[in-house]
Amino acid sequence: MGQSSPGRYENDMSISLLADAGQRLEQALKYTSLSDDAIASLRHPKASLTVSIPVRRDDGSLSVFQGYRVRYDDSRGPGKGGVRYHPSVTLDEVQSLAFWMTFKCAVLNLPFGGAKGGIAVNPKALSRLELERLSRGYIAAIADFIGPDVDILAPDVYTNSMVMGWMMDQYSIIQRRSSPGVVTGKPITMGGSLGRDTATAMGAFFAIETMLPKFDLIPQNTTVAVQGFGNAGATIADLLFQAGYKVVAVSDSQGAIYCKTGLDIPSVRAFKDATRSIKAVYCDRTVCSIVDHDAMSNADLLALDVDILIPAALENQITDANARDVKAKLIFEVANGPITSDADQILQQNGVYVFPDILINAGGVTVSYFEWVQNRNGMYWTLEDVNQQLQRKMIEEAECIWTIAHSRSIPLRTAAYVHALERLGEAIDAKGTRRYYNGH
Ligand code: GLU
Repeated sequence: MGQSSPGRYENDMSISLLADAGQRLEQALKYTSLSDDAIASLRHPKASLTVSIPVRRDDGSLSVFQGYRVRYDDSRGPGKGGVRYHPSVTLDEVQSLAFWMTFKCAVLNLPFGGAKGGIAVNPKALSRLELERLSRGYIAAIADFIGPDVDILAPDVYTNSMVMGWMMDQYSIIQRRSSPGVVTGKPITMGGSLGRDTATAMGAFFAIETMLPKFDLIPQNTTVAVQGFGNAGATIADLLFQAGYKVVAVSDSQGAIYCKTGLDIPSVRAFKDATRSIKAVYCDRTVCSIVDHDAMSNADLLALDVDILIPAALENQITDANARDVKAKLIFEVANGPITSDADQILQQNGVYVFPDILINAGGVTVSYFEWVQNRNGMYWTLEDVNQQLQRKMIEEAECIWTIAHSRSIPLRTAAYVHALERLGEAIDAKGTRRYYNGH
């Protein structure tokens, strides 16, 4: 594995993610009648754990990595959320990701709260054995904080099914019993669910297909730009391409490629898989005859005049510095938190419809829920069953948020938060409120 640092898509780290996420909460609270108790509980993460993970390196030396696990809220069920490996992971980032998971699970009506984990590490600079020791060391450090009924892990940026397999195995070793329900996104042979690997993109695809007719668009006349070519970005580009959409631009952390008449996504994917970089597509080798394109920067991609823009990389990509450049009519947030709250206001003034992350990328955690259910009852579903159930849930919640936005004349993001807050508020209030205890 190479030594280079994974790109941040120029993530602006001066913006506190948790403070910015909190703005969305305050915004949505204006449209709900949540009890004071519910509001007070939702303003703070329930528990945050910071651990140091010593890892024996292949050369015999010892490195110590910082790891985090945050449970933001568990009033609707055990915490649920992924684990991210990235050099710039911080407690602030993990807390805000756990906050978003809380709302995401409520939007999809999953019986989970919100949690998240992360390790500040450049996974590309570790050997595979070092990565395994790190993953097992992380579980050893947080084992008392997680569990199938407490807090359930899953993949996120730069973690995959093999990492989840190591984590589940390590937890099972510690518990001295097989515990598949502590981690989702596992390899199929270790209790993983069919369809989990494509679930985030599949969920986004179902939501896009549900919303498209509302804007009098049909796939063949709809142009799309996708920022990010990881699991979610590459899969959504492919699904849209297969359905006849014109995917005119895609990017990874190295840069973007653009073709006015539409890119041949399967060829781009094949080259990315072979070379680890879509930059290889800029080359003058055979691919240039397969994939007609111009090279551009990630910033240029975000400003393309397309019908649909899909940020599928990292947080803080559209800020008050570049929101005015966005020309897309619709944005579907496949990444978590790609748009800051300041940028939201600018996009709204410019008439851009933003379909929020807590709905659009919730397909991943929804199929994680299906995986957890399958682990608990020991019966495994077909891929068709998984996708059908996912489609049903995505359409139902997307339509519901669309209706809330229109009936209350509020942005789609606020509508999604309102929808989630109503469910969260009910769960918190079910344990008693001030009015219940003092009678007024
Ligand atoms: N990491 C994914 C997310 O941000 C999936 C979480 C999960 O499956 O628990 O939604």
